[in-house]
Amino acid sequence: MIIDFPGTKGEIEESSSAHRYHSSLIIKYKNTKILIDFGTKNNPLLIDRINECDLILITHAHPDHYIWTRDEENRIKIPVYLTGDTLDYGKYKPPAYRIIESDKKYNFKDLEIMAYDVIHSIKCPAVGYKIKGDKTIVYAPDILDFERDKGIVLKDTFALIADGSSLNINMARRRGEKLFGHTRIKTVIGWCKKYDIGHLIITHCGKQIVEMDKEELTGKLQEYSEGKVDVTIAYDGYSVEI
Ligand SMILES: [Zn+2]
Ligand SMILES: [Zn+2]
Repeated sequence: MIIDFPGTKGEIEESSSAHRYHSSLIIKYKNTKILIDFGTKNNPLLIDRINECDLILITHAHPDHYIWTRDEENRIKIPVYLTGDTLDYGKYKPPAYRIIESDKKYNFKDLEIMAYDVIHSIKCPAVGYKIKGDKTIVYAPDILDFERDKGIVLKDTFALIADGSSLNINMARRRGEKLFGHTRIKTVIGWCKKYDIGHLIITHCGKQIVEMDKEELTGKLQEYSEGKVDVTIAYDGYSVEI
């Protein structure tokens, strides 16, 4: 399985040469190629490659993940899978949209895919995706936590690709009974230790990661992971084979 990161930035104004474009992911496995998320500030190299993919999966309707919330985009001809909530939120709709339901298994050519609800936004309910080829990855670029038991969601996961909005600053918010926002990389490293995930790749980088001194960041990641989790900060153009 080859995983490409055309963009690795969250919904922030700050930017660097490493994190310029909104987070998205291309997964290539055997004869299957999928893209996850296509935000407003997308990598210009992406549009020419999109129609080579079999399909697009969308995590939620925030514009850094889903261009159709704000813009009409009719160049994309391949099917775009999204939840009913995401479709209803956007001002525009992808030309070939398909509804995907959470907690339901889908087989797309060589890949098995399941969407899981995540706690992130009250207005824009979000999902993360568990994707199975010969190895299993979980992609959750915007997440405070999973709705379901992480023992189930993260079972047998080889690599978790998750939210880099914050290294260690609390970004959880509360409205009434409801929590929303983003988790911290420090917390996600804890999930990896607990559920025995050896590889963590950070994307959707926020202000703290984009602006932090690289040596200081490496030191913090080593301190949190205690040698038990291999943590990589993805950057625009990063590609990895697992
Ligand atoms: Zn986002
Ligand atoms: Zn979001």
